[in-house]
Amino acid sequence: MFNLVKGTHDIILNEADKYTYVEQTLVQFAEFYNFKEFRTPIIESSDLFQRSVGDSSDIVRKEMYTFLDKGDRSITLRPEITAGIIRSIVNNKLLALGDYPVKAYYVGPCFRYERPQQGRYRQFNQFGIEIAGVTSPYRDVEAISFGYFALKLLGFENLKLKINSLGDDESRKNYRDALTKYFASYIDQMCDDCKDRYKLNVLRILDCKVQEDQEIIKNAPKISDYLTDKSKDYFNKVLKSLDELGIEYEIDDGLVRGLDYYSDVVFEFHYTSSKGLSYGALGAGGHYNKLIGEIGGPKDCEGCGLAMGIERLVSVMEDDQLFDNLDDSLDCYVMPLSMEYQSDALNISSSLRLNGFKSEVNLEGKSLKAMFKKANKLNAKFALIIGEDEIKTNSIICKDLSSEQQESVGIQDLIDYLDSHIGSDEEHHHECGCSSNHEGHENCCCHNHENDHHCCHEHGQEHECYNESKKEN
Ligand code: AMP
Repeated sequence: MFNLVKGTHDIILNEADKYTYVEQTLVQFAEFYNFKEFRTPIIESSDLFQRSVGDSSDIVRKEMYTFLDKGDRSITLRPEITAGIIRSIVNNKLLALGDYPVKAYYVGPCFRYERPQQGRYRQFNQFGIEIAGVTSPYRDVEAISFGYFALKLLGFENLKLKINSLGDDESRKNYRDALTKYFASYIDQMCDDCKDRYKLNVLRILDCKVQEDQEIIKNAPKISDYLTDKSKDYFNKVLKSLDELGIEYEIDDGLVRGLDYYSDVVFEFHYTSSKGLSYGALGAGGHYNKLIGEIGGPKDCEGCGLAMGIERLVSVMEDDQLFDNLDDSLDCYVMPLSMEYQSDALNISSSLRLNGFKSEVNLEGKSLKAMFKKANKLNAKFALIIGEDEIKTNSIICKDLSSEQQESVGIQDLIDYLDSHIGSDEEHHHECGCSSNHEGHENCCCHNHENDHHCCHEHGQEHECYNESKKEN
């Protein structure tokens, strides 16, 4: 037996279904915003993160999984994905034509050597978006609103959006000077991390979680008093636009984020589960005005993005029973009454699967009683029984496991029969599972596509469903 590496976890079975559901919902919503998927390597040169996330960040100072490869190159398992996305955009010259913006989304594992605790792992999964080539504050609003509405789509009702402006370079320089002056007389009593932060990037001190330090931080100067007119105007435009979109927010002038590349607008999404548990920020992001240039892209090119922690989303959704609509039922469980019909049972299952019915077949030679038990355990809608008579008459017994009604159906009519018994009801051929009636494939899923039906799984038909469980809202 080998133990899991500390801070990691297996995502398997039903739990994995939840991850898939959350990721698919986010991915499909990102597609509606015209974000394109980027898959970048999990390993990158260490200096990419030193340059982007920043030498003064906790991530670079203490949390990176860095090693020398056999060619003596310093390699790091990505602690976040923004840097890799921007590197990829720059390397592939996607901004070279000034063809702004490039809109990317990503999903995948990240690695940070943190102290494992509730909502904090050493390997965790992030979904995120980046907009490279921001020329208007409304692109920041687009990113924020994407996050906000995506979380609503997942079922988060009482979201709290915290937002702040770190200002432009000039604002931050003035603010840093003010903070340096303020903390000078306290720094000796503060924690060792704060002492380092004082030297490396005094702004980071505002992120300190140590109780005694918090008392000192409470009375520190506020960034809002140091914003240039330009930054103030930018921030106000963002806030006004959020108001117009009906997105509630709370200005939190202690919010600085843990990554050095942010400037101007930064934000976090918070949520407390119905059990009263908070898992930290579900998602967070902000604007970056230097990152793209520092990684080798156009100097004047700004961007913004956000990342969400899938582990945290899943935990809170479990607490708040937001997965209740997830359908793990089976359409059919095919039960051969003796070993000699196993091959026929397999053929029928194959045809069912090719026709879009989620099916399992018993090939273990179990008794009828054991097979019914298994069918119930698998949450099957129909038990399909094949015995000697059925083989002779080229038919099959279809037993509806909820009504307990059964009838013999000709093999040539089986698909139509199931279509009318499962398909007419609800999800069949509309695996969106949104438990709405799709009659004629209409009114599918959470968004209205005007006769263009987007279902969440490809069904090999003209109808693609969009989302597992949410109706239009
Ligand atoms: P960051 O990249 O630090 O801005 O984090 C973005 C989001 O990733 C956070 O809001 C969390 O939801 C998630 N996250 C960050 N670190 C961890 C971690 N160690 N374990 C689980 N989720 C994390």
